[in-house]
Amino acid sequence: MADIIKLLPDHVANQIAAGEVVQRPASVVKELLENAIDAGSTSIKLIVKDGGKALIQVVDDGIGMSETDARLSFERHATSKISSAQDLFNLQTKGFRGEALASIAAIAHVDIQTRTESKEVGTQLKIEGSKIVSQDVVAAPVGTSISVKNLFFNIPARRNFLKSNQVELRHITDEFHRVALVHPNIEFHFYNNGSEIFNLPKGKHRQRIAHIFGSKMESRLVPVNEETEVVRISGFICKPEFAKKSRGEQFFFANNRFIKSPYLHHAVVAAFEGLIKQDMYPGYFLYLEVDPSSIDINIHPTKTEVKFDDENTLYAILRSTIKHSLGQFNVAPVLDFDHDPNLDTPYAYKEKGATLPKVTVDPTFNPFQDSSMGRSSGGGFQKKSSKGWEGLYEGLEKDVDIEEFSSVAIESEGEIQGTIYEEDHLAEEHLAATFQLRRKYVVSTVKSGMLVIHQKRAHERILFEKFLGEITVKEGVSQQLLFPLELTFTKQELVILKEIKDSLTNIGFAFESLEEETVKVTGVPMVVPESGIGTVLDRLIADYKEGFMEGSLSQAEVLAKVLSKNLAVRTGEFLDQESQQALVNNLFACKEPTLSPFQKLTYTIISEGDIDKKFS
Ligand code: ADP
Ligand code: MG
Repeated sequence: MADIIKLLPDHVANQIAAGEVVQRPASVVKELLENAIDAGSTSIKLIVKDGGKALIQVVDDGIGMSETDARLSFERHATSKISSAQDLFNLQTKGFRGEALASIAAIAHVDIQTRTESKEVGTQLKIEGSKIVSQDVVAAPVGTSISVKNLFFNIPARRNFLKSNQVELRHITDEFHRVALVHPNIEFHFYNNGSEIFNLPKGKHRQRIAHIFGSKMESRLVPVNEETEVVRISGFICKPEFAKKSRGEQFFFANNRFIKSPYLHHAVVAAFEGLIKQDMYPGYFLYLEVDPSSIDINIHPTKTEVKFDDENTLYAILRSTIKHSLGQFNVAPVLDFDHDPNLDTPYAYKEKGATLPKVTVDPTFNPFQDSSMGRSSGGGFQKKSSKGWEGLYEGLEKDVDIEEFSSVAIESEGEIQGTIYEEDHLAEEHLAATFQLRRKYVVSTVKSGMLVIHQKRAHERILFEKFLGEITVKEGVSQQLLFPLELTFTKQELVILKEIKDSLTNIGFAFESLEEETVKVTGVPMVVPESGIGTVLDRLIADYKEGFMEGSLSQAEVLAKVLSKNLAVRTGEFLDQESQQALVNNLFACKEPTLSPFQKLTYTIISEGDIDKKFS
């Protein structure tokens, strides 16, 4: 038999390698930014068009490359960063595999211009699918500019797999954040389709974080600092009250590389225990420095998982360091959240600042004194007749109506009243009485037995269908705000807000300007309580971002889901009689009453037979 093994030609090998290194435009951004940093740049520009599909360009003012180096840099395993395997144990640079440029050049049109300080003129190279198509001498500033156009031009399957420009831009932005957050001493500019979306001047870590995530972030940060033999930890955590419902602002860096570590994440969450609710995520920006030989150096270009030698120790140190910071900066536990949801802080109360508890000392107090002397009996301490937890909320009623949210939320819609009783198999002759069980379920009777409705899920279903309708037919009722509300958003949040603005307007939101960090809200849908507008919009943006990334649902559907999730009555909320009835009616007026928008059961019927059995 003839020999059948062949060596793959280089350009084919490069294309295969590219599949590993370059998954999407954001991967190219990461590699190019890292190279610019390794080149000792002090100012870096990132220019992107159409989510990186049309163009990704990185311009730096680093050391540049000689003509030979420029040509070599596109060869596989061409790197200036290591020369022996031993170097791997003491890496100071981000790159070392010499794979990135070769891979990128295999699947895109690449144009590079570069000049070193010692030369008067620079070199320009154009490469298409691994082939150098031209080389010229050019006038160029010291440093390097690499533009990558038409990514995946020769792999249509890959190109078709890319998501919308907005989604790709978000991945790029995430990558940009990860790099910019570890190099506050480098100036960054980021342009998308011609407009500057980030301008990050040099500064300290804290300022860098604020420049990226908005000025409101700065006051939320609590510094973290610890130095042990194993690790040096620095950075910031966000105060617990600013914990978010999304995983957005959580960053670990090990030796100046962004890493993902569910294990260390857990350590942080454990330190926050008791300070934030279960489904909330604390924000953090934590920089770890460890001996390079103590982490797994075989860092894959696209992977961000690392392996530490002594993870358990790291876990313990991290957790106690953060606890310490939380304690030191007076963010000590006040409430235990693992309790009866009935005790949850009412919605409007959260917006108010905490007041210091007053401690009154009775200077005449003597534990040995007889009760007849005017003190309490039984050893001195007598619990003041406690109003229990309700006392916590004293004074609240005067300002806000806690139940307002609920009753407004489940407004009964006149014409559909009684639908289930007329044509449904659930029918009973007339409106049955309802009651609320543990502020969680609404119970009523139907012909076949007992109807138990999950209040939160049912309301989600009702709102979901309502919003979906409104978004498509634009008929949301808006409540105009007497005093427009000014809210601040980060640039990234603004991008999302603009994206969903039309849908939001359709359901009743009204915005005055969306150009600045500060947005004026002039109107909101009827179901949104004025006190909660900021929170609702924050969550909306966070959830929308996540939801949109996950599936390929329509924008209307994602938004309706997100809105319903955030605006539905919660478990633990009191519903008055009217709201309970409205909930029942509106639920059965839905097209799909049985499931919540998240495919969970909204109600169940316990049959008379089942009840009978209990008594047999
Ligand atoms: P690696 O970064 O792993 O060395 P790359 O393929 O990313 O591999 O880059 C190959 C080489 O090209 C680098 O080692 C470096 O010498 C050179 N290089 C790439 N980008 C730049 C740049 N922006 N400025 C100067 N040199 C660069
Ligand atoms: Mg590199």
